[in-house]
Amino acid sequence: MIDFRYKALPWNVIFGVGALARLPEELDQLGCRRALVLTTPAQSGDGRKLVELLDGRAAGLFDQATMHVPIDTVRSAVAAAQRLTADCVVSVGGGSTTGLGKALVLELGLPNIAVPTSYAGSEMTNIWGRTENKRKTTGRNDAVVPTLTLYDPALTLTMPADFAAASGMNALAHAVANVAAPDANPIVSALALDAIGALARSLPVVVSDPDNMEARAQALYGACLAGAALGSGSTGLHHRLCHVLGGAFNTPHAETHAILLPHSVACSAQAAPEAARRIAQALDSPAAAEGLFDLVRTLGRVTALKDLGVRQTDLDEVAALANPEPLSRERVRALLENAYQGRAPQPV
Ligand code: NAD
Repeated sequence: MIDFRYKALPWNVIFGVGALARLPEELDQLGCRRALVLTTPAQSGDGRKLVELLDGRAAGLFDQATMHVPIDTVRSAVAAAQRLTADCVVSVGGGSTTGLGKALVLELGLPNIAVPTSYAGSEMTNIWGRTENKRKTTGRNDAVVPTLTLYDPALTLTMPADFAAASGMNALAHAVANVAAPDANPIVSALALDAIGALARSLPVVVSDPDNMEARAQALYGACLAGAALGSGSTGLHHRLCHVLGGAFNTPHAETHAILLPHSVACSAQAAPEAARRIAQALDSPAAAEGLFDLVRTLGRVTALKDLGVRQTDLDEVAALANPEPLSRERVRALLENAYQGRAPQPV
C-alpha cells in the first residue's frame, strides 16, 4: 500500500545550452547589483569571464573556494563580501564552490545563485557542510537552496573525462540510494529513476566523445535530478560507508562512491527486490548491481578499494565506525572485503 510524506524544496532552475547569457537579466530581476563571484583557483579564468559578462553587476571575484569548505576560506570570503558590499553571491563551479556559496548564505543571508559545472548536485540540496579543526560538520537547512540555479551544459565541456566519469558516478549514487532503500519515497524515486537512466546512457558517451554536447547536457540533467533526489530524499548505509572512508582514510569522494555502489546495491536488493528491478530497468541491464559494476568498468574507473590506498586491516575499523544498520557488522565487513578486492558484486 502506498504510504508516504513528501516535502518539496524551493527549487528555481533554468537549464539550457547558452543559459549563462541570461544571468545579467536574472540578476536585474532579483534586484542584485553587486554580485560576488566565487570560484576555485582552477576556475578563476571562468570567474573573470563571468565578471565581464555581468557588465558592472559584479562587485568582485573570490577565487579561493576549495574542497570541504574550510572555515578559514569561509571567513576570507565573508570579509571579501563585506569589503566589496556584495548584495548576492554567484558560485560557478563544482560542489566545493557551491558549498562555499551555501556557507555565505548562512553567514550573511545574501541571495545565492549557483552555476554548476560538475555533476555533484549540491545546488539542488538543502545540505550544507564546513570543516573546522579537521572535522567536517554537515546539516540541512532549506535556506541554503540557491535562489536560482542556472545550468548551462556548455560550461561542463571543460570537465576532463576522468573527472566527469567520477563525478557522474557520485551523482548516480545519490539517485540509486533513493530508489534502493526499502522505505524510499515514491516521488523522490521517480526523480531518481529518470536520473539513473539519463546518467547511465550519457556518461559512456561523455567519456568516449567529450565534445558531444547532447551527452554533456543529458549527464548534467541527470545530475540535476540526482541532486534533487538527494535533497528531498535521504542517504543510507552506502553514503555512511563512503563518508567514513573519506573522513578516516582520505579516499577520493567520487571514486569511493563508484567502487562501493555496486556492492551496496547487491545488499539492498535482498531487502528491496522491486527497487532493484526498477534500477536495473533504468540502467537497461538484467540486474542492478551488475549493471552498475559494468558501468564503472566502461567508464574506466578503478573498481577496488585497495587501489585507493585503503589497507585490508582498515576494513574492520570502517565497519565499526559506520553504523551498519540495517546490516550486521559482519555483513558490512563482507561487503567491504568484496569492494576491497574489486570482485563482482554479490549479496553478503
Ligand atoms: P570540486 O568542486 O572540488 O571540483 C574539483 C575540481 O574540478 C575543482 O578544481 C573545480 O574547480 C574543477 N572543476 C569543476 N567543474 C569543472 C569544469 N567544468 N571544468 C574544469 N574544471 C572543473 O568537486 P565536485 O566533485 O564537483 O564536488 C565535490 C564536493 O561537493 C565534496 O566536498 C562533496 O562533499 C560536496 N558535495 C556536497 C553536496 C551537498 O548536497 N551539499 C552534494 C554533493 C557533493
